[in-house]
Amino acid sequence: MLPVAEAEAKILNLVQPLQSPQDVERVEIGAAVGRVLAAPISSPLDFPHWDNSAMDGFAVRHADVAGCSAEHPAALQIVEEIPAGKVPQQTVQPGEAARILTGAMMPTGADTVVMQEVTRREGDRLQIFSAPQPQEFVRHRGDYHRAGDVLLAPGVVLTPSEIAVLAAAQNAQVPVYRRVRVAVLSTGDELVPPGQPLKLGQIVDSNQSAICAAIAQIGAVPIPLGCVSDTPEALRQAITHARTQADVVISSGGVSVGDYDYVEEILQALGGTLHIRAVAIKPGKPLTVATFAPPDATLYFGLPGNPVSALVTFWRFVQPALRKLAGQAGGYHPAWVWGRSPQSLRADGKRETYLWGRLTSTAQGFEFTLAGGSHSSGNLINLAQTNALAMLPVGHLQIAAGEAIAILPIAPLTRH
Ligand code: AMP
Ligand code: MG
Repeated sequence: MLPVAEAEAKILNLVQPLQSPQDVERVEIGAAVGRVLAAPISSPLDFPHWDNSAMDGFAVRHADVAGCSAEHPAALQIVEEIPAGKVPQQTVQPGEAARILTGAMMPTGADTVVMQEVTRREGDRLQIFSAPQPQEFVRHRGDYHRAGDVLLAPGVVLTPSEIAVLAAAQNAQVPVYRRVRVAVLSTGDELVPPGQPLKLGQIVDSNQSAICAAIAQIGAVPIPLGCVSDTPEALRQAITHARTQADVVISSGGVSVGDYDYVEEILQALGGTLHIRAVAIKPGKPLTVATFAPPDATLYFGLPGNPVSALVTFWRFVQPALRKLAGQAGGYHPAWVWGRSPQSLRADGKRETYLWGRLTSTAQGFEFTLAGGSHSSGNLINLAQTNALAMLPVGHLQIAAGEAIAILPIAPLTRH
């Protein structure tokens, strides 16, 4: 059976990321958070654009104030007021100062800002009681970045920090990759959409809602295509239709070795290439991955039907692939953290095992608490309210209490 790391590498290798220019759109900067930047961003201006003050105070010539102290204050004449947004009109001459506010342009002649807390002003007369360092509190033109430098590279996921740079570089609209479209199917004769009465033997199709939510959460567009019955013909039709709708198709169920598990057979009959049929992971062993040749070039994930298996394989394998496909230049690999569990954790040692629980941040580092209740891959109830998966590598029957363990966050962390 394929080890998890090999499956991960194989899947990421199959991904053809969105391309410029055909997959690029422009969005308003107000709608750009979370999107993936599709072109390099630079500015014709230096940052800062001109020398300016980092403080409310007085712009002076350092030579005038170098030796001053509380006992021997420097005495200067104030020649101008410079609020932010005003272009200074005067040159500061020896013996002179200009009142200056934070972010205002430095006047020519001055090289240093004295903060107002160490001064006393009476009309146009200024006394300074503490000698500043040369150039103190001056933000010089080009200190942060030079005109023409690449400020942001394509492939960056836009957060408020990058949005600030985009705005400062005059991008009212932002070139981003279009959102990845992901069609979602559920296979199984026993499945009924949520909200409908159940007959004996039926269960609710919870996977479709869960997988669509996971897709939306990472900024892709879920396209729910409903439930498909366990017949080759129904599956053939559903998969054929799904391929026309999306970049990626995800189904759940029908990939085990049961008599009604037709997904692999149909993928092959439709001309798909099967790359993965099983992975040494628990839960989630029967993961199936296939590709179809262009023109549609669909990437196909057949996730196992058990609700926990479906989500665990989504987080572990599908999510990184969707992020790479979306144009992300990096950062799409799972972001492991290291922590400890106050109780020992057990596995069968045969497959890489994922145990769900709660990750908290403590003064001693991350702490993982195993979810109570059954750790069956069919138990979707105790997966709720968890935020992390602890990973036990192949060959490990137990990780002792307090021993370091790799943990995959799946939802925001909480504090103790
Ligand atoms: P399968 O992989 O089709 O054999 O399904 C494995 C288990 O997962 C069975 O107990 C199914 O009833 C259950 N299952 C399959 N699909 C879904 C779904 N969409 N929602 C909830 N449970 C499902
Ligand atoms: Mg089934």
